[in-house]
Formats: sequence, structure tokens, C-alpha cells
Amino acid sequence: MTDRQVPFADLNVRESALGSEILGAMTRVLGRGWFILGPEVEAFEREFASFVGTARAVGVACGTDALSLSLVALGVGPGDEVITSPLTATFTALAISRIGAKPVFADVDPDTLNLSPESVRKQLGPRSKAILPVHLYGNPCDLPAFQKLADSEGLRLVEDACQAHGAKLDGRSMGSWGDAGCFSFYPTKNLGALGDGGMIVTNDESLAEHLQRLRNGGQVSRYLHDEVGFNSRLDELQAAVLRVKLPKLSAWNRRRRELVAHYIQLLEKTPVKTIRLLPGSESAAHLFVVRVSDRAGLGEALVSQGIQTLIHYPIPAHLQPAYRALGQEEGSCPVAEQASREILSLPLFPGLAESQVERVAQVIRSYYR
Ligand SMILES: *Cc1c(COP(=O)(O)O)cnc(C)c1O
Repeated sequence: MTDRQVPFADLNVRESALGSEILGAMTRVLGRGWFILGPEVEAFEREFASFVGTARAVGVACGTDALSLSLVALGVGPGDEVITSPLTATFTALAISRIGAKPVFADVDPDTLNLSPESVRKQLGPRSKAILPVHLYGNPCDLPAFQKLADSEGLRLVEDACQAHGAKLDGRSMGSWGDAGCFSFYPTKNLGALGDGGMIVTNDESLAEHLQRLRNGGQVSRYLHDEVGFNSRLDELQAAVLRVKLPKLSAWNRRRRELVAHYIQLLEKTPVKTIRLLPGSESAAHLFVVRVSDRAGLGEALVSQGIQTLIHYPIPAHLQPAYRALGQEEGSCPVAEQASREILSLPLFPGLAESQVERVAQVIRSYYR
């Protein structure tokens, strides 16, 4: 890679102080010879709960499982409907389908691109059991509105905070508002493992205890299975790595927000539109996404200059082939569909240099000149 190239993200920590710290933590686990559900997971659960501000946290195998297990523990099952956003990693919807429940897609807000409370209200029906909003790109959803709706309709509220580690609304961490909050530690997330990992946070002690059994096959004690559980555990090596990274997360998120502010300032006088935040939000700035009417052209101009971009996400979940059987057609979530044709994610990671942001902005400005 030459100096002029700008990668979308950079996960290589081998030559850094962080890399040595991670190796040290892994060596500690190797020396202990205990790899599943042990002291590292327990310590990381306590540390992560304290970071989010909840009473409990339960480590699981990935973010998708965090969502599935939360829904099961909250009584959602076959035949129940869970209302969610179509503009997300389709894994959000898969987590609902996998437990036999049905994802129902409501539209997103045109300014924030997060699930719209008004649109959710329109999808309510006799089988509605839960609302599953997603903090897309690390930007907080309107949780006060969803809490009100869930309370008045007797619905469960599960937050997909898989992109929102450390994001806040009115000073309160995302993930701590709903009955349960779900996180992913997929390597590219703001807090990423060296493989898969996930976490469920909650203030409900008995829910946390149920989740601890559910992730471990439904066992109440060794080899005694009370219910049909999952095998979905966070392992000791990943927990040890995540414990090294967690204390650095707030500074990394701050750096991400600074870089976003720099992008926004440099792109001010271009046709590029940015995504609005709710008032009172502190985004985790997981992705920096712009909206343009001529995405293919701009994308090509950037790639030709060695700048990597991605699209999050090009096909809304309700239009995925996997969900054809649900019968939700094109036009049923027009705002999400229009957004999916216009969004483009630009390079953003804590190690990105200001000069790289300036170069990306420069290429965009000359494209429109
Ligand atoms: C990453 C992600 C998931 C899935 O997490 P995994 O750990 O990959 O299972 C779910 N929802 C959203 C919004 C995500 O970004």
C-alpha cells in the first residue's frame, strides 16, 4: 500500500504496543489452561457491564446470538412478530428468524436512517411481541419513544447495539435502555475481538441468570439440562483480548468522532449529505456514511485514487432473497430503499490520519468540481 492509498479500516496491531499487551493477555490464558467460561469471561462481563452502566452482562458467541438469546429469554418464540429495521446488517433479522419468530420490517427515519417510531406503530398487530431497534452506524435510536411504545403496548424492547459500543443518548449508554442490549465483538466493530464474540447487558438479574443457563445448553447444573438451550459462549482468549481493549475504547471513540467532525467540515460545500444525529446523542461513530445521488460515480472516483469504500447496506433486509417468503415487496419501506441506493461509507478508524481524511475530502471535492 502506497502513502496515497487510504484503507477502509486497519486491524493489524502486530507492531504496536497494543499487540504486545494482547499477546501478554493471551499468554496468561495459555498458562491457565482454561478456555471456556472462566475467570477472564467473568471479569470482562463485570467490566463491560460497568462500562455500559447495567447491573449485569452475559458473554455469548456473537452479536447474532446475543439477539436470539435475548429474545428467547424474554419469551419471544415461534409465531411471534418482532418489529425491526430493514436498514441493518441482515444478521439482525436472521437472529429473529432463527428462533422461529417473524421479523416485521418498519421503515427508517429519512434524516437519521434509524428505525422510525411512527413506522413501528403502523406495523403493530396482535402477534407483535417485541421491538428491536438498531443503533445504525453507532448513532443512537430514539429510545425514549421506543420505551414509551413498548410500555403502552406491552412489548419487549431489545436493542441491537452491535455497532454502538459507548454511544450515549442524554448521557445514558445505548444498550442500557431496553430489557436487554446486544453487542458484537466482530473484529471490525469499535470493540473487536480476534474472532467472534458477543455480549448481552441487562439490569434484570433473573434475566441475566436465565441467559447464563441458555448460553450453556440450558444446563442448571453440570449435565442437567432444564430447557433446550444454545451452545453460545464467549471464550477465555477472546475475553482476555477484549479486556485489554476496553479501557482504550472511550479514547478510540473520541478520535472517531473528531475524524467525523473533520470530514463534515471539509465536505460542507459539496453535494454530499451526511446523516443527522438525534439531539442529545454521542455517537460511537462506528461508520462514517454519506448520501449521494450518484454513488457509482463517486465510488469509482474514490477507488481510482486508492481510497477504499463500502456500502452499509446495499440490500435492505426485507428485499433479501432469504426473506422473499415474507412477501414484503419493493416499495414497502421506501425510505430505507432510497437510502440503500445513496449511502456510501468512507474510511474511518482511530488510526486514520487527519491528512488521510483531507485527501478523501479532496478527491470528493474535485469529483464535484
Ligand atoms: C455486526 C452486527 C450484527 C451481528 O453481529 P455478529 O457478532 O457478527 O453476529 C448484528 N447487528 C448489527 C447491526 C451488526 O452490525
